[in-house]
Amino acid sequence: MPLTLKKLCFSYNPGTALEKKVLKDIDLTFREGEFTAVIGPTGSGKSTLIQHLDLLLKATSGDLLYNGESIYGDKYDKKALRSKVGLVFQYPEYQLFEPEVFTDVCFGPKNQGLSEEEIQAGAREAMRLVGLDESYDTLSPFELSGGQKRRVAIAGVLAMNPEFLVLDEPAAGLDPRGKKELLDLIRKLCTEAGKGIILVSHSMDDVAEYADRIIVLKDGRVQFDDAPREVFKHREELEEMGLSIPKVTQVLHGLKERGIPADTGLISIEETKEEILRLFR
Ligand code: ADP
Ligand code: MG
Repeated sequence: MPLTLKKLCFSYNPGTALEKKVLKDIDLTFREGEFTAVIGPTGSGKSTLIQHLDLLLKATSGDLLYNGESIYGDKYDKKALRSKVGLVFQYPEYQLFEPEVFTDVCFGPKNQGLSEEEIQAGAREAMRLVGLDESYDTLSPFELSGGQKRRVAIAGVLAMNPEFLVLDEPAAGLDPRGKKELLDLIRKLCTEAGKGIILVSHSMDDVAEYADRIIVLKDGRVQFDDAPREVFKHREELEEMGLSIPKVTQVLHGLKERGIPADTGLISIEETKEEILRLFR
């Protein structure tokens, strides 16, 4: 069920001398089953925006609808919303606090008023989805690798069976291999488990490879909202914002500037490899 922001505005410290308008007239719909990346320069409002999606922050004006119903209504079931929209924080390892992996993953569903059997079944399924088998159950989450800790934290959110999984820079600080494994996992949660993914990232290379759609925030406004291929056609505007186009696309532009007729509309490593082979065959 879609999440729709309507003319949503947000200020920190409204009505005070410290008021800071951060989100300005945001109109957006996040659709289930879609992998949406949110990008933008530091301070553009990405983290502020996604904290609205499960009511950690509340709009100063405008509205946010889930399945057509305003989540700001007095009688709205906010707890149910939080289980439908699962938020994974930046550095998700800080979301871990139980001494054992399985009990940690059970923590969210425990607060949903489910039976013990349902809690355990949900946690088991969530661990399966993130690729952790029963041998992890009694390990301490704190002794796992960075990538595995993040898997446990994601499983803890998935255990509530959300429709949307919202992740703020989930791969930050991981080595390239850990990062690829985590992003492959997130893609799989979208494609195979049907989760709507809303991923904040500052890596254009990552979003080019993984996202179906990119939303570019600039100074609290939506600057672009389109398929990655379309967004990365705006090379100069992105560069003015301090963002770049994917490295492979930069290479293709470089070839073209040297008189080689490369297709500068390509954005993934695989299709660029094919293009270069074609050009130099
Ligand atoms: P991003 O995630 O895109 O880097 P943020 O949403 O974190 O951006 O921040 C947007 C703006 O809001 C920034 O100018 C930031 O300084 C400001 N800001 C963030 N959190 C707070 C806060 N708790 N109080 C006041 N201003 C804040
Ligand atoms: Mg942020």
